Amino acid sequence: MVLSKTASNSDVSVHSTFASRYVRTALPRFKMPDDSIPKEAAWQIINDELMLDGNPRLNLASFVTTWMEPECDKLIMASINKNYVDMDEYPNRCVNMIANLFHAPLGEAETAVGVGTVGSSEAIMLAGLAFKRRWQNKMKAAGKPHDKPNIVTGANVQVCWEKFARYFEVELKEVKLSEGYYVMNPAKAVEMVDENTICVAAILGSTLNGEFEDVKLLNDLLVEKNKQTGWGTPIHVDAASGGFIAPFLYPELEWDFTLPLVKSINVSGHKYGLVYAGIGWCIWRSKLDLPEELIFHINYLGADQPTFTLNFSKGSSQVIAQYYQLIRLGFEGYKNIMENCQENARVLKEGLVKTGRFNIVSKEQGVPLVAFSLKDSSRHTEFEISDFLRRFGWIVPAYTMPPDAQHVTVLRVVIREDFSRTLAERLVGDIVKVLEELDQIPARVTCKLAASEESSEGKLVKKTAIEVQREITTAWKKFVQNKKKTSGVC
Ligand SMILES: *Cc1c(COP(=O)(O)O)cnc(C)c1O
Repeated sequence: MVLSKTASNSDVSVHSTFASRYVRTALPRFKMPDDSIPKEAAWQIINDELMLDGNPRLNLASFVTTWMEPECDKLIMASINKNYVDMDEYPNRCVNMIANLFHAPLGEAETAVGVGTVGSSEAIMLAGLAFKRRWQNKMKAAGKPHDKPNIVTGANVQVCWEKFARYFEVELKEVKLSEGYYVMNPAKAVEMVDENTICVAAILGSTLNGEFEDVKLLNDLLVEKNKQTGWGTPIHVDAASGGFIAPFLYPELEWDFTLPLVKSINVSGHKYGLVYAGIGWCIWRSKLDLPEELIFHINYLGADQPTFTLNFSKGSSQVIAQYYQLIRLGFEGYKNIMENCQENARVLKEGLVKTGRFNIVSKEQGVPLVAFSLKDSSRHTEFEISDFLRRFGWIVPAYTMPPDAQHVTVLRVVIREDFSRTLAERLVGDIVKVLEELDQIPARVTCKLAASEESSEGKLVKKTAIEVQREITTAWKKFVQNKKKTSGVC
C-alpha cells in the first residue's frame, strides 16, 4: 500500500519557493505588514532584489574596499554581534599602529591619540570640532570675538568638508581651481588665512583626480605667515585615500606629522586601509591638540572609558578586520598591494593613451586611479562613454570639475586591490569598443551643429529641421543594422 499525504494549504515547509503565497505577491512598502512570513520567504525576496544591485567589484567609481580574504570574512561574521563600545584593545592597537605609520612624535611606550570612526567623514567632523574649540579657547583667552570661525580648503574638497562647515557653523573658504590645476594652490590658501581661520585642510589624494596636495609647501608658507602674524594657524591633512598609499609608495614624501603644523590626520580604513565599508580613523599629533573638554568619560560599562565620537554604539567587525589587515599584511603586504594597484593603473593609462582620444588628468604621483577626459567632446561626451560602459557591467563615473574648472569633464577609474591586470585589460578593450560604437552614431547634442554644415565652398549652409531629422534617423538605422550583423544570435 502506498501511503500518501497531500500538502495542506498551510503547510509552508512543502510549498515551492516561488509559487508560495509569500513570494507571489508584492510586499508592502510603506507599512509594516500585519502578519509574519516564513524566514525562507523573507530571505528569498530580499536576496532576489539584491541581485539587481550592480556588481560592487565592477564599480570603479568607489574607493571603498570590495574584497577581503575569506579568513577575514569569517572573523567579521564572528564579531558581527559585538558592540564597538565594549572594545578597547583593538581600536587602540590600530590607532597606535596608524599613528606610528604617520610619524606621530611618540615616546617608546607612549600611546597615540586617536579614534576609530565610521569613516573619514566622522573623523573630519571630530578633527574640525577640535580645531574649532582650540581656536575659540584661544580667542576667548585673548578677549577677542570668537563667533566667525572659518576653514580654508581647495574647491576640490570632498563633500564632508561642506557638511562639517554647515553642520558646525564654520565658514568654508575655498581656493578656486583653474584649468590644468585641479588641487589647492598652497600660496593662495595661505593668502586666504586670517585670524579666524581654525585650520587649513590639505588633501592627500584629491577625490577628483587622485593628486596629492603639496602639504610640505603649505606647511612652510604657513610657518612664515604664523611668524609674522602670531596666529599659529594649524593644518589638518585629509588623507582619506592617500594615508594608506603615501607611506608605502612614497616614503620620502613629507606630508604627515613630520611637518610641525600638521596637528591631525584622517584616513579611511575602508579605502586603501583595505577593510569593507564602515571604518575610518582620526589621529592627533598629541594630547594638546585634542581639547580635553570634548572627551567624555563614562563608567557604566565597567571601567572608565573615554569617548570622543559622534555615535556611541556601532558594529565592531570593521575594527577587527582592520586589525587583521594590519597584522596579516604588515608593511610588506600593504606595499606589495599598493605597488600592484599602481602597476594596474599604469596599464590602464597606457591603454587609454594608445587610443589617442583621451587626455590623462590624473598625475604620476598620487592615488592609483586614472582620471581622463576626451580630447574632442564635440560629438560625444564623457557622460555617453560612462553610459555605454554600463552595458558591459562597468560603473565608471563622469563628472564636471568644481569652480573654476567646471567646463572640464572627466571619467575616473579607481584601481582597488581586487582590480586585476586582466580586468584592466578588459576595460581598455571595452572602452575601445564603446568609442567605435559612438563613432558610428550621430552626436546626441548635434542638432545645433548639424543645422549648419560647411558646404563645398567652405560656407555655412543652413539645413532644414526635416533634413537634420532624416540624417539622424538614417544614421541610427545604419547603426542598428550593423549591430544586428555583428551580434549574431544574442
Ligand atoms: C572618501 C573621502 C572622504 C570621505 O570619506 P568616508 O570615509 O567615505 O566618510 C573625505 N575626503 C576625501 C579626500 C575622500 O576621498
